[in-house]
Amino acid sequence: MRCAAQLTDGSPCGGYAMADGSGLCISHNPAAKDIKQLAVRKGGEAPKKVEAAANLPTVTITTKADVPTFLVAVIDELRAGQVDIKTANTLGYLAGVLIKAYETAEMEARIEEIERVVLERRTRYGG
Ligand SMILES: [Zn+2]
Repeated sequence: MRCAAQLTDGSPCGGYAMADGSGLCISHNPAAKDIKQLAVRKGGEAPKKVEAAANLPTVTITTKADVPTFLVAVIDELRAGQVDIKTANTLGYLAGVLIKAYETAEMEARIEEIERVVLERRTRYGG
């Protein structure tokens, strides 16, 4: 349902009406004044949450096995409200990139090892 209020030019508001039966959107519903103020205040608080995330202790990830531990810590921090969803999302994405980088490095090391063994056999048996 759309908001029944009219804008100053006489056109309909077009905003989504709230489910409280008022037929008015959050901007036009007088009963929503507190909610609106809270929403505005929360919006203003958003950058502070990012700041809080920046103040977290430095994490050390040296092997692929450290990544799940790191992700569990991020999940805990998200649930505790110490990290905002956007930051947690980015950290999750970067953790995925890290895992891929470790896997690529592992694969390269395995290929090098195979190449070394093949070369050694050729040298020894004259393949
Ligand atoms: Zn409205």
